[in-house]
Amino acid sequence: MALELKRKKRFFSSIRFKFVIVYVLVNIISLQLVGVYFTTQLKSKNIATFQNTIVEQEKKLNYNILEEMVKIPTSADKLAIETNIKKIATEFTTTKLSLLNIVDNEMTIVASSTTDGSKNYSGKRSVDPIVRQVIKTGESASKEQTDDSGKVYWVYVTPVKSDDQILGAIYIVTDIGSVYDEIADMSNLLLIATVFSISVVTFIGFFASKTITNSIEKMSSQVDNMAEGEYGNIIGINTNDEIGDLAIAFNQISKKIKEEQGITEAERRKLSTIISSMMDGIISTDSSGKIILINQSAKEMLAYDEDYIFIGKDVLKILNITEYQTISEILEAEDSLLISINENDEELLYRIEFTQVIAEDPNEFYSLSKVDGYIIVLYDVTEKERQEKERREFVSTLSHELRTPLTTMNSYIEALEEGVIHDKELAPAFIDTIHKETVRMIRMVNELMQLGKMDIKEEHYDKELMDINKLVEKIVERFKMTHTDKNFILHTPEEPVFVDGDYDKLTQVFDNIINNAVKYSPNGKNIVVRVRQNYNQNRVSISIKDEGMGIPLSHIDKIFTRFYRVDKSRQRSMGGTGLGLSLAKSIIDAHRGKIWAQSREGYGTIVFVMLPSENMAEEWL
Ligand code: ADP
Repeated sequence: MALELKRKKRFFSSIRFKFVIVYVLVNIISLQLVGVYFTTQLKSKNIATFQNTIVEQEKKLNYNILEEMVKIPTSADKLAIETNIKKIATEFTTTKLSLLNIVDNEMTIVASSTTDGSKNYSGKRSVDPIVRQVIKTGESASKEQTDDSGKVYWVYVTPVKSDDQILGAIYIVTDIGSVYDEIADMSNLLLIATVFSISVVTFIGFFASKTITNSIEKMSSQVDNMAEGEYGNIIGINTNDEIGDLAIAFNQISKKIKEEQGITEAERRKLSTIISSMMDGIISTDSSGKIILINQSAKEMLAYDEDYIFIGKDVLKILNITEYQTISEILEAEDSLLISINENDEELLYRIEFTQVIAEDPNEFYSLSKVDGYIIVLYDVTEKERQEKERREFVSTLSHELRTPLTTMNSYIEALEEGVIHDKELAPAFIDTIHKETVRMIRMVNELMQLGKMDIKEEHYDKELMDINKLVEKIVERFKMTHTDKNFILHTPEEPVFVDGDYDKLTQVFDNIINNAVKYSPNGKNIVVRVRQNYNQNRVSISIKDEGMGIPLSHIDKIFTRFYRVDKSRQRSMGGTGLGLSLAKSIIDAHRGKIWAQSREGYGTIVFVMLPSENMAEEWL
């Protein structure tokens, strides 16, 4: 529609209009050239014919008049001669004669004749200077003159001569205007013919040009379609001329572009799918560092508002990199950057790598390469860094945990060497401490090895269906016997509760929890162990409650991490390794269960273990 409007508007600059104009101009010029040549030729020929007729007629008249005039000097009857002359003058006829005067050499008009007989100049003196000139020179003369009404006359004056003696002159005035009128008529005719011819040529030109412009318009509309992404053939041009050839070439190009476009589009879609589905953040920029593409992962990583527009923004500002001004500076520094972004109070770490996109111009002889843009990849290294930090902390804690007992043992051994060994009271106490520390260290190393195996998922689980009530009862019974100073209370459901688990490892878990309850509560207090089954959810929960020192609220979640102890030195001296609960957590996790604690400082602690339980049919029981 817009195209139509455009076409209509620019009619006067269209090829069709120009074509018609050229047609018409060529026609006008050629007609005018022919016309001008024709009329000038006609004009000169007609005038010459007109004048020749008069000259010839006049020759006869001149002869007759001369015959009479030569008689005058000798004749006695001048009157008779004059009468004769008048008669000859009156009888003279020639083309378009207006006035005939016979003048003697005294410039007196002897005879005068007009076609309509309206005027007679006989006896008057001729006043026309041309007559005087002819009588004087003896040579014929002519001129054109125009009267007041614009009529054109041709005046022809000839001398009447006998030998060298000039006797007078013949003065002829003819109406040459009719010759001019004829030529004017011809010019008018030519003008009409020109106008007619212009109309016909315009008409023909309009239709003739249409055959060419039609093809061009078809091509042009196809080009417009191509610009809008619609590729196809130009139809309706079957001419066997240059335009036909052009249409064929055009169709081939269109087909080729369509194919190429298809390939490029498919490639583009593949690439865009790959980029958008990548977990790493991808940003592409132009050579000045302005963002031209950013994938979803990068948007999420950068934690801007959801509708934030990244396109066109400076990537260094977006990434909040202030230590470098340009990307090429970063590339020169060969630095891989780490940036941290705070998202929902969590610090996320990203490693950023920059790569240059080099465009090589195939037209350049010395293939000069220039930077076309940059690709920036963001890797989420939060987890990696966290693990790395944990590893470093673990190594430092472990060295500390090992060094402390070793230092203690070393100082005791030194003391023994320096003579305490002979002290009957101190020596056994020292050796006992060394022994306890050694046992604790062995336990620590064993637990660490077990944890290590669990970390790399190498720990083997011998799972079997067991009644958890029985397992808990057995452990509590054992504790009752070894720790008579504590009051153990056990609540188990009447029905057995089946759990698919590793008997030894679950024993290790409850041993550790109950041992903690024993360790961290004073003598004479209750330790309540309760097993509860939730049939609906197929879960069993085992809680171990003590009335001991409790755990401060800020520490409660940390007690399941390795080497974590609320009061380091005191609890170490109590034989704790700080690994028991983290080991318990790993085992419970491997059973798809949960472990957590509730506590109130000074009042006691409850540790909960929840495990998936099997809902057995009655006949199994
Ligand atoms: P440890 O061998 O030191 O007991 P654990 O991993 O078993 O190591 O326990 C971690 C820490 O949690 C203990 O050092 C102690 O501070 C705290 N804790 C665990 N159980 C209790 C409890 N029942 N009462 C008070 N504190 C406890």
